[in-house]
Amino acid sequence: MTNGIILLSGGLDSLVSLGLSKEQYGISLALTFDYGQKSVKKEIETSKIICDYYKIEHKIIKLDWLREITHTALVSKDMLPEKIDENSAKNVWVPNRNGLFLNIAGAFADGENYDYIIIGANKEEAENFPDNTKDFIERINSEFEFSTQKCPKVVAPLLNCDKNDIVKLALEHSIPLQLVFSCYAGNEKHCGKCESCIRLKNALIANNATNYLKELF
Ligand SMILES: [Zn+2]
Repeated sequence: MTNGIILLSGGLDSLVSLGLSKEQYGISLALTFDYGQKSVKKEIETSKIICDYYKIEHKIIKLDWLREITHTALVSKDMLPEKIDENSAKNVWVPNRNGLFLNIAGAFADGENYDYIIIGANKEEAENFPDNTKDFIERINSEFEFSTQKCPKVVAPLLNCDKNDIVKLALEHSIPLQLVFSCYAGNEKHCGKCESCIRLKNALIANNATNYLKELF
């Protein structure tokens, strides 16, 4: 039997990655990271609900020091970017985030015997964030051959998908999209204005899944 860990923020990418991979990789543990991001409270709350839904263990990893060295709108008082381009990507950058999160998951895998680590990296994020690319996933896997005894394998089931594809997969596999929280702002409902909200909204509209719009926004 395989045993997997998911990096879970409660956003679209991680929720759908979990829904698609739960059985295949025997996911039994989710890690949610608290680095003082504006949306942390909602991320933890949402991830907990998702873990209850899928009946997996949920751990919250606190990274207070990461907030101190993060100087972008994701944690600071600065306004969140509303349009999607190279600059807005820089405004929500967190230093070495995916590298760090995967290495923390790698330590869990090494210490507690997990075979797989699932991450929601995808084609759309990869356009602006190099830590969402196939090259990066391959290199992390090579790194684990040296830095761990267990050599867990990182799997990114959405690597070739954009947001429209991801929503389509969610609908096809009856993944509970009503549970998702994909907003950078962290209010009770999605703000509808930040980059992440705009991407989710557009993908729901493209898939005729507008019934979720009222519920989420
Ligand atoms: Zn938002």
